[in-house]
Amino acid sequence: MSKFWSERVWNLEPYVPGEQPKDKKYIKLNTNENPYPPSPRVLKAIKETCNSDLRLYPDPECESLRETIADYYGLKKEQIFIGNGSDELLAFSFMAFFNPGESAGKPVLFPDITYSFYPVYASLFNVDYETVALDEDFSVPVEKFYRENGGIILPNPNAPTGKYLPVESILSIVEKNPDSVVIIDEAYIDFGGRSVIPFIKQYPNLLVIHTLSKSRSLAGLRLGYALGSEELIQGLDRVKNSFNSYTVDRLAVAGAIEAFKDEEYFQETRKRIMETRDRVTKSLKSMGFEVTDSKANFIFIKSPLVDALTLFQKLKEEGILARHFNKPRISNYLRVSIGSEEEMDFFVNVMSRILEEFNNQM
Ligand SMILES: *Cc1c(COP(=O)(O)O)cnc(C)c1O
Repeated sequence: MSKFWSERVWNLEPYVPGEQPKDKKYIKLNTNENPYPPSPRVLKAIKETCNSDLRLYPDPECESLRETIADYYGLKKEQIFIGNGSDELLAFSFMAFFNPGESAGKPVLFPDITYSFYPVYASLFNVDYETVALDEDFSVPVEKFYRENGGIILPNPNAPTGKYLPVESILSIVEKNPDSVVIIDEAYIDFGGRSVIPFIKQYPNLLVIHTLSKSRSLAGLRLGYALGSEELIQGLDRVKNSFNSYTVDRLAVAGAIEAFKDEEYFQETRKRIMETRDRVTKSLKSMGFEVTDSKANFIFIKSPLVDALTLFQKLKEEGILARHFNKPRISNYLRVSIGSEEEMDFFVNVMSRILEEFNNQM
């Protein structure tokens, strides 16, 4: 608390990122990072870009990377916007497309259980919002988005539940809201879902946001991209150039381009993660856990026996970090990122030991 803070800063409720502990080596299953290293081609490109050109500013338009991504998805580079991680794109999008102040019955809508950065941005930019309650089983009640609003934002698959909405459901939300921007945050789409990217040509109000942090093992590089109609992309560009023209550095651009070129590596690593996820889901279910049907690189689990906070602490004692959200409706769940096969074998073993301990006490 400080008298030097602006009123705006007094009123903020900042996002709390998952811990990145330094006290000892943990199996990190708490921030949905990829257990596999980036493609060797990515690392090579970054090393080769470490040269005297770093004295020069990067290309503010990221032309080369936008062309690479446009080719990859069969779009025009004018339909692509690059950002310093997708969190930055989300922040820019709130500013670009959602009006501040009293909403007069047109609040921005997002689910009550979702990525916890959305309400943080809403409060930072003074955007009025209402949350839409997910069904009992955490499904998204699509019809509740058929109403007056000032914009819609939805992750698909949703976080932290991992639950996926089929393309038809997303498109019906987009169609029913032609005067609002509908942002689909597809941070986890590469782990088994179908993207709505092919439909941005058809719907000028659809903005899709992707990140290289999860499926492309580059959380440390900070790179995200948005895909949408040229008018939406120009809106984001206006915000960026009123804030910082050089949000993405030369090393990130070089690495990101190679990430898209090494398709084989991408396919192989994402397949491994999906297989591990499905295998771990089966094991946990057979041990009596409730596991939501996830199409992401994490699972969302609940034990009928041991409460989530106790589980979290026991796992931590065993050197495994998971994520617990002390929030209504989900405080008895743990979100567990999918690690390597070996890490997840260890995780399943530890879980079964913890359960046994509890069974013996009862
Ligand atoms: C991880 C995550 C992001 C942020 O990704 P960065 O590109 O690392 O900023 C955005 N949205 C959701 C739903 C996420 O889980």
